[in-house]
Amino acid sequence: MAKHLLITGANRGIGLTMVQHYLADGWLVTACCREPEEAKELQSLLEANEGLSIFQLDVTDYEGVDELAENLAGEPIDLLINNAGYYGPKGSGFGGTDVEEWRQVMEINTIAPLKIAEAFCANLALAEHGIYAAISSKMGSMGDNSSGGSYIYRSSKAALNSVVKSLSIDLQPEGTSVVAIHPGWVQTAMGGPNALITTGESVTGIKRLLDGFSTEHNGGFYDFNGNEIAW
Ligand code: NDP
Repeated sequence: MAKHLLITGANRGIGLTMVQHYLADGWLVTACCREPEEAKELQSLLEANEGLSIFQLDVTDYEGVDELAENLAGEPIDLLINNAGYYGPKGSGFGGTDVEEWRQVMEINTIAPLKIAEAFCANLALAEHGIYAAISSKMGSMGDNSSGGSYIYRSSKAALNSVVKSLSIDLQPEGTSVVAIHPGWVQTAMGGPNALITTGESVTGIKRLLDGFSTEHNGGFYDFNGNEIAW
């Protein structure tokens, strides 16, 4: 039976490339995005890919998250990639912190990933070895922070990493593994044009890591090359 991926933020950037790579590998893909009618590139994949379903989902709309989970009740999900993310104000250095933006970034990058894990953990438990992969960032690493600043984004991904660690312990008895992944510095709207790698390079690496995933990786923090990152 074909494996099933559910992914958020699937309309552009790393998420869209993920959808393309997993469809090419024969997976069933449930692709979620905020505005499906605007997601032309994602929609264009429907014709050639019977395994693709597209759902409207803002990850911070928790009623919507629960509705989708009800829709998919009883269906195994082998891999859930929580990819949707928001950087917030560029810079966000010391002084004049925009508190409303910080709340918004925390909502999208930290709180929503936990609510999504709560909503879909039953689906992950139905898979042979369910994996919940949170797209995090090296910017959330304490050990890697040598330049300071970026208070808003850094704190949201550091808190996400903490969520991942607890989930990896709490979901282990159900046979689900949980992992935080740094996708590299990637040429997307968020990464900007000077970023070091393409979405294709990032996703090829992440997929290789996830394809070879074992329970030993549970609760870890890895980059797209499969190298472990300091928390
Ligand atoms: P993009 O800015 O290109 O894409 C962000 C995606 O997240 C879009 O699909 C966007 O949807 C979606 N999104 C944002 N807010 C919400 C929301 N509330 N509900 C649902 N979807 C939402 O970024 P990337 O592709 O680069 O980023 C993907 C992930 O990788 C993020 O988690 C990011 O933090 C992480 N990352 C990226 C790096 C990089 O260099 N690019 C480096 C490290 C980590 P919409 O189009 O509707 O806005």
